[in-house]
Amino acid sequence: MIAFRKIRSSFRRAILVYLLAIVGPTLVFLYLGLQSVQRQHQAITSLTVSNLRLSGERLAAELERRVWQLAKTSLQNDELLQLQLPPGDANYPEETRQLRMLLERVKDRHSVVRHYFILRGSTVIFPLVRTPSLRQLDDYITREDQEAGKRFAALFTEGENRELRQQRPKQALSFYRQSYEMPVSEGSKALALARVARCLRKVNQLKAAERAYRKLGEQFGDLYDGFHRPYALVAAFELDDLARMQGESSSQSLIDINRDLVQGRWELSTDQIEYSLAAIEERLEEPMPQMGESEYLNHLEMASVLQEGFRHYGPLRVGEVYAYAFSQGETSYQTFYSPLPAGRGTDTLVGFAVDLNWVESQLLPQWRRELEVDDGFAVALKVAKIPAPHPNDLAATVSFTTLFPFWQLSMAPASIEAWKATTRRGILVFAGSTILIFCVLILGVFLLMRDVSRELKLGRLRADFISSVSHELKTPLTLIRLYGETLLHGKRSREKERKSYYQIITRESERLSHLIEKVLDFSRIDRGQKQYNLQEGDVAPVVARTVEVYGEYLMRQGFSVKTDLAAHLPPVQFDPDAISEAILNLMDNAAKFAGESKFVGVRLRSDDNQVVFEVEDHGIGIPPGEHEKIFQQFYRAPGRTGKGGYGLGLFLVKHIMDAHGGKIELESEPGCGSLFRLIFPVREPGEGVGGSPEH
Ligand code: ADP
Repeated sequence: MIAFRKIRSSFRRAILVYLLAIVGPTLVFLYLGLQSVQRQHQAITSLTVSNLRLSGERLAAELERRVWQLAKTSLQNDELLQLQLPPGDANYPEETRQLRMLLERVKDRHSVVRHYFILRGSTVIFPLVRTPSLRQLDDYITREDQEAGKRFAALFTEGENRELRQQRPKQALSFYRQSYEMPVSEGSKALALARVARCLRKVNQLKAAERAYRKLGEQFGDLYDGFHRPYALVAAFELDDLARMQGESSSQSLIDINRDLVQGRWELSTDQIEYSLAAIEERLEEPMPQMGESEYLNHLEMASVLQEGFRHYGPLRVGEVYAYAFSQGETSYQTFYSPLPAGRGTDTLVGFAVDLNWVESQLLPQWRRELEVDDGFAVALKVAKIPAPHPNDLAATVSFTTLFPFWQLSMAPASIEAWKATTRRGILVFAGSTILIFCVLILGVFLLMRDVSRELKLGRLRADFISSVSHELKTPLTLIRLYGETLLHGKRSREKERKSYYQIITRESERLSHLIEKVLDFSRIDRGQKQYNLQEGDVAPVVARTVEVYGEYLMRQGFSVKTDLAAHLPPVQFDPDAISEAILNLMDNAAKFAGESKFVGVRLRSDDNQVVFEVEDHGIGIPPGEHEKIFQQFYRAPGRTGKGGYGLGLFLVKHIMDAHGGKIELESEPGCGSLFRLIFPVREPGEGVGGSPEH
């Protein structure tokens, strides 16, 4: 016992050392590994960021270079250099319109251009930013045919005289009407018709005035009056007034006019546009329908910002292209400009605002492809002064050197999530495999521990077994020796006493040989040498004989033995000695654990292709938790070891049943007794039988 304790404590120590030897280094390994993964991640991050910055700088420089190139091509083309500009200040809407048409044509060929502009000195003359000065009658009639022009001028001046000086609109009306009939230009006719309509209104001929204004709007809508107001606009306002006077509404025509204004039907100055739009809004009773983005209004807005903020320094050389960038509120402009050749006035500049949307959505992706910027990077242009990215962030922002001061080029991996997932996967794989190795090692320790403790337990059981077998051997031997000596030396023993002594000696010898047989059997099984001599036949006689002999013995001991044995049974394969051994063991146990009841029941019958043998007692029973264990070698239920036995009987019975291809079943509850059932399969003719099982 002491030896076992020693072995066990040194075993525990070994396990502890072994565990420490695993756990310690594994934890250190895990810590160092995770640190190195972390460092690797940081190194890759900073490498990626510098890679991003490099690509960004390359892309930004290239973007600038190419935009400059495009700007030069757009400004140094013959069509622009041959521009016919209106002389002096007389930049009338008609001339501006022609300029627009020409510039629109040029623009269509240069996608980089969003809006062209022309500056004379510090004044933007295209598009119209300032309303041109008042137009005099002379401006109209200088272009007329000599005769008709003179006649027109005379009639029109007379009309004005009557209308404005003498306040006689009725008379003025006839002069205006006559002038309208003259074969003069559209502009002059429109002027006359406008006056006719005005006078009609003055003399309260509202319907006629309405007709005249409608005609004015429809026929001469694209022309401008002396205040550079388009006749269509004038007519629309007048018609609206007339409609109101008659209690009607003309909102649809105002909405139409509003749309025309926004879409740039006329060349108006910024002031005029603002004034007209406000006036329409005021007149409309319902809210103005949304128009969406207007290129024309954007153009005008750019021009007025340009008018306010454009500066150029130093002398400009013809043929050179210059850049200038400025912002107004949320809108930013990158412009390029160039002076027009001498003769057209060196103080005249032509330039354009870059189409930033186009640069962002078309140029950037295209050049990015050409420069082979890594596909995994997302490139974007962002409004400048975004906060610098955190050093741990995977992003880089790059500024431009000569252009786009309001932009920064931002570079980032296309999918930060994918990048993070890769790192996370790395850490998981590393930690996972370390933990797996750790678990395998721990499992190894556990299995080892289990095996060793099993062996230890078995060793202890064997030692117990030897001591209890020796004890069991000693009792019958002592009795045999005692009665043998009594017979040898006893002189006065009577015949009856002697017979009882012989019986005791015979019984104890039988017990002894039974015990020795059991031990030998176990030893054979233990060494794998147990052989069964299986024969086919009726098992009933063998069972009957064994039960009869042992039953008698039990009855002599005061047991009530109830038997119900079938006389003939279908043939089964069996070893008669082994079967007797099994029956003896079961009956012996039943008697041992029968308790107060002193009852043992034995039954034998055939049942569904099997032969069934049952031994029953009404004794102490077996708790469910032990139903399996009692068939293990050396197992004895705790607290019942006093009954003798060494935990081999049921182990042998099970081994025997396995060798017979049969099985042993148990039904038992504590306090209610137990029933052990041996089941032998009835073999079909020609079927083989399993050999000796390994235990
Ligand atoms: P043993 O030789 O010690 O009887 P067995 O292998 O025959 O060994 O039995 C193992 C244990 O099973 C016994 O110690 C006892 O606890 C339990 N056992 C066996 N048969 C019975 C029974 N009929 N009633 C109650 N317990 C039993």
